[in-house]
Amino acid sequence: MARKIGSRYTAHRILGRGSAGTVWLGDGPEGPVAIKLLREDLAADQDLVERFVQERSALLCLDHPRVVGVRDLVVDGNELALVMDLVRGTDLRTRLERDRRLAPAAAVAIAADVADALAAAHAAGLVHRDVKPENVLLDALSMEGPGGAPPALLTDFGVAKLIDSPSRTRATSIIGTPDYLAPEIVEGLPPRAAVDIYALATVVYELLAGFTPFGGGHPGAVLRRHVTETVAPLPGIPDELWQLIHQCLAKAPASRLRAAELAARLRELLPSLEGLPPLDIDEQGDEEGYADYAGHPEADTPGGGEGAEAEHSLSGAGAVPAAGGAVPLVHSRVGPDANRDTHTSMRVPGEDELAGGAHGTARAPRAAGEARAGSARHRIAVRRRRLKIGAAAALVAAALAVGGWLATSEEETGSLPAPAYGYSGD
Ligand code: ADP
Repeated sequence: MARKIGSRYTAHRILGRGSAGTVWLGDGPEGPVAIKLLREDLAADQDLVERFVQERSALLCLDHPRVVGVRDLVVDGNELALVMDLVRGTDLRTRLERDRRLAPAAAVAIAADVADALAAAHAAGLVHRDVKPENVLLDALSMEGPGGAPPALLTDFGVAKLIDSPSRTRATSIIGTPDYLAPEIVEGLPPRAAVDIYALATVVYELLAGFTPFGGGHPGAVLRRHVTETVAPLPGIPDELWQLIHQCLAKAPASRLRAAELAARLRELLPSLEGLPPLDIDEQGDEEGYADYAGHPEADTPGGGEGAEAEHSLSGAGAVPAAGGAVPLVHSRVGPDANRDTHTSMRVPGEDELAGGAHGTARAPRAAGEARAGSARHRIAVRRRRLKIGAAAALVAAALAVGGWLATSEEETGSLPAPAYGYSGD
């Protein structure tokens, strides 16, 4: 069902839903476009609308082949719409859900495109603040590049910043998606360009590993890990690629590379990665091999481990890990993509909480090699433990049943028992 958006655009059908609104396939005077209709509660916020209009020129000026261009901002009665270039394809989250892990060349080619987009934005004084697979669109109509990766474009520029208006959040709030938040944001510092580099390095890690370095469990625990835990190399990752990721995941923003340099270094690596298969981090490796991997942070970070319990002092209790390790900060008010909510806020944890002190959120440290509560590996471990317990229980039950049957049949007939067939005595 078509609907008019302002006087120049028509929205035809829904392409996707996100945390900030619904994206429609539409058209305008210059042909097909994507139209993001902001959520009603956002569109009804006068301050936000004003900021949107103020930011208009900055957003409209960001013209780069790796950025999904914003063509227009339409304020129409109660509706606020962002008219964007239409990208025919999927987002990177969908691709990751399909493939689980990407080949290093594909991951690096996509990351290099995103780094190009960031370089352009940073040069224009814009910080994205919400780099994550959901905000990377893959252009399926253009020719595939290294590792079979389609060209990637970064979208949603300015949206996190706009929604983070003083009327919507307090100075002590954090905006973003926990898995990708740089430690300085968690510590309450204003987000600068380096936060995008940290988030992009997290995305590269996730494309290679199938999970984010610090994700899993309660959002408060995720935030603390960004500040306190270090990340160890993924098994089998080419060393130079690892050095780049590691440098861009540095806790100190100044130690990270700048976007343009990161793009160049990633592209330099591409020839050496061509033809390499995705990293071999299978479920077995996830659970046992990886945790035992020498130098893994979970095995050697004193007190860095988190317990399984929900942590009480930060908002968002009851949040569940989403696919890809993304965890919502608070329960979302919107529909289907609720557990990838982006533009939500929580307060900055106190020093005590970050350190896991007396009033903090830390639990007893995990034993070396034990998986982090809520992490991908932890969930696999729990499943495996349940299977083992189930199998053991079935064996015990079968043994009891055979014993019981033997006793009865011996009593009754005095003969030897027939073999038992997986009978469970309960
Ligand atoms: P939000 O930022 O509000 O979470 P997104 O920008 O992620 O929402 O958009 C939700 C979905 O809409 C995306 O996953 C994608 O499928 C689709 N989409 C977003 N922007 C475009 C675009 N410019 N062209 C085509 N599809 C788009």
